[in-house]
Amino acid sequence: DAYSPAAYRFANTPYRRVGRSGLKLSPISLGLWQNFGENRDPLTLRTIVRRAFDLGITHFDLANNYGPPPGSAETHIGRILDQDFSNHRDELVISTKAGYEMWDGPYGDGGSRKYLLSSLDQSLERLDLDYVDIFYHHREDPETPLEETMGALDQAVRSGKALYVGISNYSPEKTREAARILADMGTPLLIHQPSYSMFNRHIENGLLKTAEELGIGLAAFSPLQQGLLTNRYMSGVPQSSRAGSSSPSLSEKQARDPEYQKRVRGLSDIAHERGQSLAQMALAWALRHPQVSTALVGTSSVHQLEQNIQTLHKLDFTDEELRRIDEFAID
Ligand code: NDP
Repeated sequence: DAYSPAAYRFANTPYRRVGRSGLKLSPISLGLWQNFGENRDPLTLRTIVRRAFDLGITHFDLANNYGPPPGSAETHIGRILDQDFSNHRDELVISTKAGYEMWDGPYGDGGSRKYLLSSLDQSLERLDLDYVDIFYHHREDPETPLEETMGALDQAVRSGKALYVGISNYSPEKTREAARILADMGTPLLIHQPSYSMFNRHIENGLLKTAEELGIGLAAFSPLQQGLLTNRYMSGVPQSSRAGSSSPSLSEKQARDPEYQKRVRGLSDIAHERGQSLAQMALAWALRHPQVSTALVGTSSVHQLEQNIQTLHKLDFTDEELRRIDEFAID
């Protein structure tokens, strides 16, 4: 069936400027790390992406290794873009990354020019696109000179294969260095992608300030702590959930941990007093800093997506609410 996007898809979304750049992103972005591989029904994926766009989400975050298997998330989104979005490429921001292990041998991992530029070509092939909007180096590689890695990002832009560049999981110090090297080459650093949630607050000790000083944006990943900051695990661990399906990134033990259960109930009570679900409060909380341009949210269903987008109706916090959240929002 043919897809025509909702007419008012952009009307109710407070798009946010990324740092001091010209680019704006939807405050909630769709992350395709875990639920967009071959382990999922392609029709559900297509429905989620269509619905996301109808709800004002313009930014879709990928990486070369997303799946499983690695690469399949890009292949799936490429097919969906071709089927449903061929007239809407200019309304979308598609991001991808390279930096974790992707293929065997010395050239499929790390931060070399060799790896990054060939990986970007492979990503474009899977996505069936001429360019991505943002190309990231996915993590620090201490063995490769930063000049080489940033040179590869600069080259990606100069060759027209990426419009903007970003880095992910870099320390504040390396972020400053990367921004300086890129600026010297004439390609500004657009954005940094760190983890950030009520259970993972490391950016408050440096990166938030660095981002402000450099005028770059932050894309906060895993703002729901992979589902722990939702009602997903409040009465057991469903088989279909990330923790219940032997995902390497989230264990059943974590979801059942009594200390975690106590904190999540405390946070959930505060959320309900605000007239929100826990997930909605967790997203609003991650977005409360102006430096956070967008929250990258994963979803396994259209229902979760629809719930999460409702966050935008209530983003503000009182000082008293923030203080009460701090009692439970511990790393
Ligand atoms: P989240 O913290 O957003 O967790 C998403 C999971 O939470 C979903 O898969 C779902 O779990 C559950 N969930 C979402 N909404 C609801 C809801 N309303 N009610 C109940 N449960 C809900 O983030 P992810 O860990 O998925 O990461 C998001 C994105 O961040 C990734 O897709 C990727 O783009 C990016 N990322 C980047 C990294 C990097 O190194 N740069 C690393 C990790 C992520 P379930 O599947 O159980 O239903």
